[in-house]
Amino acid sequence: MSIASSELSANFIHNIINQDLETNKYGGRVHTRFPPEPNGYLHIGHAKSICLNFGTAEKYGGLCNLRFDDTNPAKEEVEYVQSIMRDVRWLGFDWGDRLYYASDFFEQMYEYAEQLIKAGKAYVCDLSPEEIREYRGTLTEPGRESPYRNRSVEENLDLFRRMRAGEFPDGSRVLRAKIDMASGNLNMRDPVIYRIMHAEHHRTGDRWCIYPMYDYAHPISDSIEGVTHSICTCEFEDHRPLYDWVLDELGIYHPQQIEFARLNLNYTVMSKRKLRQLVEQGYVGGWDDPRMPTISGLRRRGYTPEAIRDFCERIGVAKCESVVDIALLEHCIREDLNLKAPRVMAVLRPLKVVIENYPEDRVEELEGELNPENPALGSRRIPFSREIYIERDDFMENPPKKFFRLSPGSEVRLKHAYIIKCVRVIRDEKTGEVIELRCTFDPETRSGLPGARKVKGTLHWVSAQHAVKAEVRLYENLFTKENPDEEEDFKSCINPDSLKVLDSCLLEPGLADAEPGARYQFIRHGYFCADLVDSKKGAPVFNRIVPLKDSWAKIMRAEQEKRQAAYGS
Ligand code: ATP
Ligand code: MG
Repeated sequence: MSIASSELSANFIHNIINQDLETNKYGGRVHTRFPPEPNGYLHIGHAKSICLNFGTAEKYGGLCNLRFDDTNPAKEEVEYVQSIMRDVRWLGFDWGDRLYYASDFFEQMYEYAEQLIKAGKAYVCDLSPEEIREYRGTLTEPGRESPYRNRSVEENLDLFRRMRAGEFPDGSRVLRAKIDMASGNLNMRDPVIYRIMHAEHHRTGDRWCIYPMYDYAHPISDSIEGVTHSICTCEFEDHRPLYDWVLDELGIYHPQQIEFARLNLNYTVMSKRKLRQLVEQGYVGGWDDPRMPTISGLRRRGYTPEAIRDFCERIGVAKCESVVDIALLEHCIREDLNLKAPRVMAVLRPLKVVIENYPEDRVEELEGELNPENPALGSRRIPFSREIYIERDDFMENPPKKFFRLSPGSEVRLKHAYIIKCVRVIRDEKTGEVIELRCTFDPETRSGLPGARKVKGTLHWVSAQHAVKAEVRLYENLFTKENPDEEEDFKSCINPDSLKVLDSCLLEPGLADAEPGARYQFIRHGYFCADLVDSKKGAPVFNRIVPLKDSWAKIMRAEQEKRQAAYGS
């Protein structure tokens, strides 16, 4: 595991832009774009690209476009287009009136292709896809020229126009750029730039039966939109010569492609193809399943846009790939919610407690501050009565040393309430299981009373007659292996415990009408969010975003100690 420090995030791309501004390369403009292919939902890796592209534009007072890279016709795209727009907006970015589709430029791309043909820089090739691959050669062997490479301009133009007119079946012909079959870069060995596909397109319908390839469409789209810095991930580094070739041969405005390292997170997969398998094969409940690394999954889990942007800032932008620890993402949401989230009481696995010396018909309204670190959140009233519930794990009949919770004869404080003492244990006659505790309370010890005595343990609780029943969903990593991509089948290491549903949790009454999407800290359990889909007024459903224990903070402390030991300071 390694992680770029945030100094790096004053990043190398910004250095390039600073230079370009100095030399006035683009007339002082900074114009980026985020170019998703609408073939799935966005994931946290895309968030890195979104923050970089929109964030860079923001930083320099420039512009950032949203462009759907829809050069490959597919059916389900409309759902994806909508989800992508929603996710970019939710992250807090705005493309203004600059929403583009690569398909808007199909006519222009076609004209440019004719221009290349007329210049002797492109030809129609009749080799089959297998033959093209075979002729291409390998890294160690040069390619061979296609027998169709030297067709006349007239013949090429005629064939290309007839390709467009629909005269030829799929796969029978392609248009190729005429570059160099001996190039050391395979992408430059006469790459295919148009193929025949008799397929409906979600925007252009059946107007086209030839479609441009990504490597041809992308530089042209960037050029038409006036992009200055075309930021993409490193797998496109070897494609940059082709990007430059297309624009130079056409003699049109030429943006600069810059590559950065894609985000990898441990314990997850990030390719849309794999995420789609998880959805379609029912391993998760949908693209927005709270275990998914998609933006919509993270949102439903309870992540805030602020936390995700903070995460993208902290991981920085570098040239070489690394794997980021998912604990850092979790650290970011804890940091964001620490002061924002009200801290309330929820009993996830209830154990009944009867306070024998508390009057049966009495109910007290106790006061509890909502966040001791942020008094601005104020306080709420919490009902207290003779019968309450505590967490099952907070009682042990034969406790080990240093167990400061409840056990026979011991005392604990109930948060915001009184000190109680366990005087008797009631069991199920058949199973022997503890089903109820009998306790007494000390009326002199109400929280906030001056001079009240202290005990070691404090427990959360809810009043039995006032509590609200809720379903609570606990999550773990979706995969048991750090790098699922290394497995023969990544689905073989899906974590069977990634979702645990607790259906008889009890919450303090103020949470009955929690708004879907509202976030709380459940004291001692972590941060939770009312589910955006399933939570209803009166019947709340909560997702645990993260437990409280911060393993990232622990990793950083250990790192620091190591460093201090090494430098003796
Ligand atoms: P996937 O492999 O997940 O399908 P993709 O690269 O095909 O991703 P696109 O829709 O083409 O997905 O990506 C849109 C933009 O987001 C591209 O500029 C791409 O480089 C960037 N991007 C995709 N994945 C990551 C990632 N893991 N980290 C950073 N940027 C990414
Ligand atoms: Mg792609």
